Parts: sequence; C-alpha cells; structure tokens
Amino acid sequence: MVFWGQNKPEEENKPSSPNTTDQSSVETLSDDYQKLIKTKGRSPAIDLAIKLSDLLLEHAVRERTSDIHIEMQGSNLRVRFRVDGILQDMLITPKSVDIPLTQRLRVLAGFDPEPPKSFRNEEGRFQKMISNRAIQIRVSSFPTVNGEKLVLRVLDRQGLGMDIEQLGMNKDTLTVIKKLIRNPYGIFFITGSTGSGKTTSLYALLKNISTPMINIITLEDPVEYRLEGINQSQISQKTGFTWAEGLRTVLRQDPDVIMVGEIRDYETAEISLRSALTGHLLFTTIHTINAPSIIERLFEMGVPPFLIASSMLGAMSQRLVRNVCPHCAQKAAPPSETVVNEFVKNMDSIEAKLVSEMILKPGANYKVEKGCPKCRNTGYLGRTGIFELMLMNEEIRKQVLEHSPTDIIKRTAIVKGKMKTLLMDGIDKARDGITTLSEVIRVTATMV
Ligand SMILES: [Zn+2]
Repeated sequence: MVFWGQNKPEEENKPSSPNTTDQSSVETLSDDYQKLIKTKGRSPAIDLAIKLSDLLLEHAVRERTSDIHIEMQGSNLRVRFRVDGILQDMLITPKSVDIPLTQRLRVLAGFDPEPPKSFRNEEGRFQKMISNRAIQIRVSSFPTVNGEKLVLRVLDRQGLGMDIEQLGMNKDTLTVIKKLIRNPYGIFFITGSTGSGKTTSLYALLKNISTPMINIITLEDPVEYRLEGINQSQISQKTGFTWAEGLRTVLRQDPDVIMVGEIRDYETAEISLRSALTGHLLFTTIHTINAPSIIERLFEMGVPPFLIASSMLGAMSQRLVRNVCPHCAQKAAPPSETVVNEFVKNMDSIEAKLVSEMILKPGANYKVEKGCPKCRNTGYLGRTGIFELMLMNEEIRKQVLEHSPTDIIKRTAIVKGKMKTLLMDGIDKARDGITTLSEVIRVTATMV
C-alpha cells in the first residue's frame, strides 16, 4: 500500500544494490567473492569452490539468513539471501568465471556432483560449524529451464530457545498468557502461517512452565530444538506413529502437559480436546488465518461444539514484522484521516472505528524506513512478533454452542474480550517506533 510511504524523502527511493557498501566496514559476499576470483589460476577450481561455499555459509549465518537461493539467470549465477523474510541479491556473477560452487554444494548435500539428466526429487542435508555453532543446512535441487536452482535452508536453532519475554508480546498479553498457561487443564491453540514463529512460541510457553514437578511430553514433526527436562517425541507416519497414535501413547505416560505439534484431522482434534477435559493441559497449532477462525476450523473437522466450548482456554495468532533499522529510521507524521478512512473502509464497523482511532491518536512516535549499510539499505533490521490473543469467555462459549460464524465470534472477542487483533498489536508497535505502519500492513494484509 503505497500511500503509507507518503512521508518518505526523495533520496530513499534509490534502489539498493548488493554492491553499495561504500560506508560499510563489513565486507559483503560480493567483496569476498571478488578477492577470491583474483586468486583464480593459482589454486585448483575445487579449492576455490570449497572456499566460496564456506564464505557463502559464513555470510548467510552472520546476516541471519533463513534461505540461500542459488540460481542460473541467463549467463549469470545469482545468489540471493532471505533475511527477515525478504529476498535480497547478494552476488551476481557471470557463469564464465564459474567456480564449481553448485557441484561443491551438491556433494556436501550427498548428491552426485552433476544434476540428474531427468527430474528426480533431490533433498539432502549437511552440518557445518560456523562461529562455533553447529548449523544444519537442508538442500533442495530444482530443475528450471535455465539450469539447476539450489535452495539451502539454514536451520540455525539458536532463535528457538527464546524465553517468553523475548517474543515481542506487550505487557498485558504477557501477563494474561503466563496466567493462562498455568491452568491445570484445557487446550490452547496457536495459529500463524509458515515462518510466523509459532514453534518458537510453543517452545517458549513450555520452557516457561517447565518444572521438575510436572511431566511435559511433546509430539512433533520434526523435533526442531531440544528442550531440557521435556520429553520430546518425533511423529513418524511411515512407522504408524501418527499424531493420533502418538497422542494415545502419550496419554498412557501420565502426562500433565502435552504439546501436539499440529492438529490436522478429526481424530487428533477429538482426542486432544477430550484429554483437555480430563485433567491435561494441551498446547497445539492449527492452520487458520486468525485466532477466532480456529473455532470454525474445528467445526469443519467435525468436532462437536460442546467439546470446543468446554475445553478451549483460548487461541493466539501471530506474525513476524521487521523492526525498522534503529541506525537510519526517520521520524514520520501520522497518515491523514482520509488515508486512514480509505484503509479501514472494508472492515467490520467496530474494528474500523478502533483501528482508525488507534492510528490517528496523537502522541505516536511513527517511523519510516530509510536504509544504511547496517541494514543493507533495506531500512529494517531484525524482526519481532505481533500477537492476537483471544480468550474464551461466557459470550464466546455461548456463540460456539450456537455454531456462530467466525466474524461474529471475532466481534465478540474484540468487544467483550478486549481482544487486540494482529493489526491492532502491529499498530501499537508502529506507534512505539519499533516497526513502520507500511510493514504492519504488508504483514497483516491478508487478514483485513
Ligand atoms: Zn539502517
């Protein structure tokens, strides 16, 4: 939505290039690559490939990259990093000076050095020590008409060990959620798209309540991070250790708290909600666009309304927004009333009123992104969570029993439950100058 960027000074519109690091003391992948190329001819090509793949991974980890894309583009080899959810060009180099980088990565992944002649699904893994940390890399190969494309997923588990206080929840949400997860029984849902930080939140909740006095068991696919003092278990469809089967087994293990990685089918939902009624506390994730629509999703699976109404403690939806770079962010005026009215015009009337009041209320410290070497000219550095926490209450319980649609339940949660939607929590963070309004809107656009 372009009009949110109205306060942007002219010079910020210049395109960012992977080579514009003039004021930076930090060397880019591109700089390091140029140095490496100068030694060409003095060392065998394979040595250069080993060095280049090491450089690639070091830069990726240093710059908090989640995925490395290596692709052929005409006569060029192009390397892009996904940082804070956005892809950025890191290196574009002619294929003619080719260092056998893809072959090297293919060998590391356990593939043949050359891609297969006809399509075959190739997926591999390897581990590398970078800055004294063991980093797992998952490699996937894909045949495009231009040649092979490799995507390397960097599985740096460090972020998964966060405490609940580090997730980005505001004080009120944090207080409520800490109380909620100390209920002796009931079920709590987390929803959010892939990469929204759901797993990090689930782990943080478990860490927060973990004591030697309770038995915590998890069912996960995959187990992404080892938590001390918690019994984690890996689901395996192949061997028949399915979500439902796993859950039945867990229930014979005298559990207090159970974490079910994901609820996708009726059977798992039914067992989960029933065990939440019989003295167990459950945490789980479910795939929906916001917290209130979890109820609708459970209806669709065939879960009876009374079971939802009596077992559900609440639900949380989340997303990650990029933090505006503290080194270069500029002050911004709030958007005009006309702009805000246009933005909220398709929302539910109550929500529209709340949202426009929140945006226009005086006293905000709005920021707009600029761009500097420290943030690689993107204007953003790091990410934080935005949260929508819906608590079960008498009104919502009644509406669940009446099989009410999502928009009615959402309205009740906002009016009676004082629920802040993802957008509202995002606006708070934009008002505090943590992120920008345009970023909040980009991330929550699909929910409005
Ligand atoms: Zn910056």
